[in-house]
Amino acid sequence: MELIKKPDYSYIKPTKDFEGVKIFFLSKHLGIHVDELNTDSLPSQKELQKISSYFPINTKEMIFLKQVHGDEVINKTNKKMSYPTADGIITPLKHVALFLKTADCVPIFLFDPINKIIGAVHAGWRGTSLKILKKAIQKMEHFYRTKPEEVFLYIGPSIGPCCYQVKEDVYTHFSFLGKEKQNFFTRRKDKSYMMDLKGINAHIAEQAGVLIEKIEISDLCTHCNPDLFYSYRRDKEETGRNLSFIMMT
Ligand SMILES: [Zn+2]
Repeated sequence: MELIKKPDYSYIKPTKDFEGVKIFFLSKHLGIHVDELNTDSLPSQKELQKISSYFPINTKEMIFLKQVHGDEVINKTNKKMSYPTADGIITPLKHVALFLKTADCVPIFLFDPINKIIGAVHAGWRGTSLKILKKAIQKMEHFYRTKPEEVFLYIGPSIGPCCYQVKEDVYTHFSFLGKEKQNFFTRRKDKSYMMDLKGINAHIAEQAGVLIEKIEISDLCTHCNPDLFYSYRRDKEETGRNLSFIMMT
């Protein structure tokens, strides 16, 4: 992925571009400021307008999820505005920007270029342990006959194995990784682990049939880059939310 720096904001975009598909992981300058976070963690109209002024999307085309660290993936088939409770969404619709809000968790986008289907998945450790990404791929197969080997996957900036320290209570949720588990958890002297959340999601996608050469992973860590991203681990309650989106035009 590529980091593009503009005078007052930055974004990360996939290296491989597709005609008619836009994918942007925005820096915190276009995110939700902590002062603007309402109880639903939705961006204010002012913030949506700001994004709209930099990118060619109408605020009415922006879809947000009420993210709850679950594994629900919804199939959006009409343009009626809503704020569904889910951590994943897929759609065949054009001019619908699927937004994710993250502050260390992994934002993931999917694109099936054959059937023209897009998807967005919010994966923290809970969603990852529930294999929400696999569920999103299966929903695309079920509703749109997507072939996993045709899917392009974009794993955005999130907390990296450099900074994501977890304890045994998190570690125990990943026994489904079997022998591979050691590749994603590095044990420390104090019996905690450094966890590779992006790597586990890429692995889950591969297990679901996505080809490794079609997976792009941002190497940027939200925790290591205070100038670019909000990080919940770093800033605690004082943090805002980074925004990212995928849209077909
Ligand atoms: Zn880091």
